[in-house]
Amino acid sequence: MHTNNAAGVIPRLIDLEVNPKILVSALSLSIAQRLVRKLCQFCKKEKENTPEEVKTLKTIIDGMTAEGKKISDYNINPEAPLRLFSAVGCDKCNMTGYKGRIGIFEAIKTDEAIEKIMPENPSEREIKKVASAQGILSMRQDGLVKMLSGITSFEEVMSVVDLNEE
Ligand SMILES: [Zn+2]
Repeated sequence: MHTNNAAGVIPRLIDLEVNPKILVSALSLSIAQRLVRKLCQFCKKEKENTPEEVKTLKTIIDGMTAEGKKISDYNINPEAPLRLFSAVGCDKCNMTGYKGRIGIFEAIKTDEAIEKIMPENPSEREIKKVASAQGILSMRQDGLVKMLSGITSFEEVMSVVDLNEE
């Protein structure tokens, strides 16, 4: 269904007149995904980060820290400089710099805390707040992990996820 994020699934289903009492037992997980292009692993090049990129990366990492999430859990060294890669182009990728696609994901489990607020027709914001205790990466946090891992570029993630969104 069309929602902006995982937190939008429950309000949308209630909006479609699905009985929240049924939702509690029927919905175990809400997942949202956006597809991004993967960098060609043959020609991608480490780039020099712009101050704006650094600022965006820091904002997301600070947000993760505030939620008790660690980038070191995703094989990113928090002590090392943050590395981004850009698309170049070679004969293996038809000179596009990209090869294949990957999803940027986020998910919300229908745990006890979510079940409890469901019958009250919760807003997206309320669901996000309750779900933050689950420790699952948001789409922009997953995007950050995938760009710092060199899987995709800053631009690709920017094109599908609003990185400056609260
Ligand atoms: Zn290439």
